[in-house]
Amino acid sequence: MKYETVIGLEVHAEVATATKMFCSCPVVDTTQVEPNTSVCPVCAGMPGTLPVVNKMAVENGIKVALALNCEVQHTSIFARKNYFYPDLPKGYQISQFEFPLARNGYMVVDTPEGEHKIRVNRVHLEEDAGKLTHIHKDGEECTLVDLNRAGVGLLEIVTEPDMHSIEDVRAYATNLRSIIRELGVNSGDMEKGVIRFEANISIRPFGATTLGKRVEIKNLNSFRAMERGIIYELKRQAEVLDRGEEVDQETRGWNEEKQCTYIQRSKEEAHDYRYFTEPDLPPLVVEKEWVEAVRAGLPELPREKAQRLQSQYGVTKVEASLLAADFELNQFFEATVKVLKAAPARAAATWLLGEVFAWMNQSGAVLADLKVTPAMLAELIEATNSSVVNQNTAKTVLGEMLTSGKGANAIIQERGLAQVSDSSFITDVVKKVLEENPNELASFRAGKETLANWFFGQAMRAAGGKANPALLRAELEKQLRQN
Ligand code: ADP
Ligand code: MG
Ligand code: ZN
Repeated sequence: MKYETVIGLEVHAEVATATKMFCSCPVVDTTQVEPNTSVCPVCAGMPGTLPVVNKMAVENGIKVALALNCEVQHTSIFARKNYFYPDLPKGYQISQFEFPLARNGYMVVDTPEGEHKIRVNRVHLEEDAGKLTHIHKDGEECTLVDLNRAGVGLLEIVTEPDMHSIEDVRAYATNLRSIIRELGVNSGDMEKGVIRFEANISIRPFGATTLGKRVEIKNLNSFRAMERGIIYELKRQAEVLDRGEEVDQETRGWNEEKQCTYIQRSKEEAHDYRYFTEPDLPPLVVEKEWVEAVRAGLPELPREKAQRLQSQYGVTKVEASLLAADFELNQFFEATVKVLKAAPARAAATWLLGEVFAWMNQSGAVLADLKVTPAMLAELIEATNSSVVNQNTAKTVLGEMLTSGKGANAIIQERGLAQVSDSSFITDVVKKVLEENPNELASFRAGKETLANWFFGQAMRAAGGKANPALLRAELEKQLRQN
């Protein structure tokens, strides 16, 4: 590619506080609750009502701002962003414009090319709009309006155009989601739209000093859609430049079915939001003491956590970042490690990220649904570590634990799966297998060494899969080489 990629992200994160941003309506899961059941005159935009700022929403904003190394502003100002759309009952959104809650932050991310620093321009508070559903009814097109989401606190987090690859975007976006979940700002559930990404994309010839014209892609509602949308757009823009034409500054949408972006709004059609200071709210003042109290209460964030996991437990860098990215997963991991006795901590990471993950992917279960507790996983790991069962049998045992909720030792006992280390048993098994396969034995002794593995398989089968594999292999080697 002869052009440099330049990307800036705007992320909207719902603030899952008990109540909405400017009224006392409960924040509900809009995918679960009857439409328009959490609405009052304030969030329905009735004249004569007055907004009141939700302190917890501000505190959540401060948390995110600090996690992104921003400077929280002593005074920030709410502004009206005016536009008319059926999901916006007031005809304007209360947002922040010239004076956002926080500025000048950054996030350091790990990419295949090493550490990258992505600057964060601003974090501001606003309110969400309602949700529109377009349907066909009696041959007509209808739009249904649900105001349950209208007025829910929303954080907007805007980066500088500092991302230069899909890897940068992936690292920033996944890490931001992890931070938001870790801080308890929301569930991170992108399918429910609690985190929404908009990508601003431009390209320029390498070495150019000015930025190219940017295109903003909206409705990217999964990481996959975001990546595909960006890749599509980079290619489209390169083709435009290759033809000697210019990229138009515009807003495009992502079409999931056709896997392409399409124009939504050109620059000429861009809204004039006629921002002005919200007259119904005083300036938002955040005293230094408050900021410091929030800072002192911040949890360990994913990147520091990954570093700690690596040094404390000897897990690999990849394992550490996978664990650290999901605080619930990591809690499970650390709780497992805590009850391990002799087995190394790393085994817990291997089992969780390997077999347990594979099972969850296949069954669609989430961690919280598992019948296996950390203590139960630890019991299985100990059984493997002390050679009560071999690795393969342990996988079978885990499968049964996950479906039945029974303990590892109980399953091993019930089904007679315990590994046999008894040397006379192993000696007899090997002897029998060699006797039953004289031709293969002759070939082996004539130099066909690869048959050793075949014999191992035969012997393990003859032992009902229960032989201690290290002892079995040693005994097999011994007898194969005996004349
Ligand atoms: P708006 O609110 O109109 O979208 P902003 O100034 O808030 O405008 O910028 C939105 C995003 O676009 C930011 O993340 C910024 O980094 C990014 N951006 C600005 N210029 C470019 C560009 N030329 N190429 C890629 N991204 C850009
Ligand atoms: Mg924008
Ligand atoms: Zn309300």
